[in-house]
Amino acid sequence: MSYLVNEKGYYGDFGGAYIPEMLYPNVEELRSTYLNIMNEPSFKEEFNQLLKDYVGRPSPLYYAKRLSEKYNTKVYLKREDLNHTGAHKVNNTIGQILVAKKLGKNRIIAETGAGQHGVATATVCALMGIECIVYMGEIDIKRQAPNVARMKMLGAEVRPAKSGSKTLKDATNEAIRDWINNPVDTHYIIGSAIGPHPYPDMVTRFQSIISEEIKWQLKEKEGRENPDYVVACIGGGSNAAGTYYHFLDEPSVGIIAVEAAGKGVNSGESAATSQLGKEGIIHGCKTLLMQTPDGQITEPYSISAGLDYPGVGPLHSHLYKTGRGEFYSVTDDDAMTAGLELSQLEGIIPAIETSHALAIFNDKQFKPDDIVVISLSGRGDKDLNTYIDYFKL
Ligand SMILES: *Cc1c(COP(=O)(O)O)cnc(C)c1O
Repeated sequence: MSYLVNEKGYYGDFGGAYIPEMLYPNVEELRSTYLNIMNEPSFKEEFNQLLKDYVGRPSPLYYAKRLSEKYNTKVYLKREDLNHTGAHKVNNTIGQILVAKKLGKNRIIAETGAGQHGVATATVCALMGIECIVYMGEIDIKRQAPNVARMKMLGAEVRPAKSGSKTLKDATNEAIRDWINNPVDTHYIIGSAIGPHPYPDMVTRFQSIISEEIKWQLKEKEGRENPDYVVACIGGGSNAAGTYYHFLDEPSVGIIAVEAAGKGVNSGESAATSQLGKEGIIHGCKTLLMQTPDGQITEPYSISAGLDYPGVGPLHSHLYKTGRGEFYSVTDDDAMTAGLELSQLEGIIPAIETSHALAIFNDKQFKPDDIVVISLSGRGDKDLNTYIDYFKL
């Protein structure tokens, strides 16, 4: 069995491109060119140079000694939090802006919920001197003022989505409408391993630098390339896809996915898609998503803005259905506690998304000589107010 995307854009039963007819030319242009572009030596050279000099890669693979002692296993943290802009998202936006340039596009659109992907997109547009329009729900604009300010400072235009619930899915609809109206000059940067084919595969390939580096870094430190487990949190699933990518066809490497249970999987306030989701279509692909019996998308909930998404990327639905991935869900409370614990054991304040992955030790017992690599997807500066309110600091 293969865990990579097939010719038609599917991972097993999931994926594909379920898009309005009028979007077909845009998506088809990307589908028919992305692999050739990504394989061009000049593309690879520019991508790698920017990852090194602008993002600061390779990100360290850090042996977390005190955390390892506490849980009696060997824990390594892949430090995506040390990237420029503070998370893994920039790996993908750098890649996509270079694809856009190769396709001769001079205008970028994106949608954002919490604003992290908007900031990563505005950053690379400033870097390249390309016009940037970010769609964002009107309610999210109010909730995420600092990220809105960052995008504006970086020169992006933030356009409010005023329809529906005025949140992420409405912003997505606005972005798609914009792309239909501007098919020639505009590229749409999607921020996770979701969307119509080829987006999930393209985003996964850009993020796969994470597992590529883990392999040689672990070889240096432990004399072997493969850990026993790789662990990552899942919103749409891009940091997870990048962390798993080079281990998907290595059966000795256990794949662990951690979703947000919010206030509890069955509380009605959750984002644990693999547990609660049914097959459906969201954001242009067939995947697991949280929905009502008549197919309306359910409003998700998590304390962490980046995991507050009602679906997962098609690769992850496939990993879940085939049993290749072990899926866990972690509540707000357990995540917050794990975030505080990492801060005080290792001197690293993680993003609350990442704190969910760090809470894996509550649910899973590892053996003393297991090597467990956790994707430290982002840093906690952006979440300081949430930590302050929660712990009354
Ligand atoms: C956005 C974000 C996530 C969730 O997105 P994925 O596409 O699932 O990786 C996780 N961690 C951090 C720090 C984020 O900013």
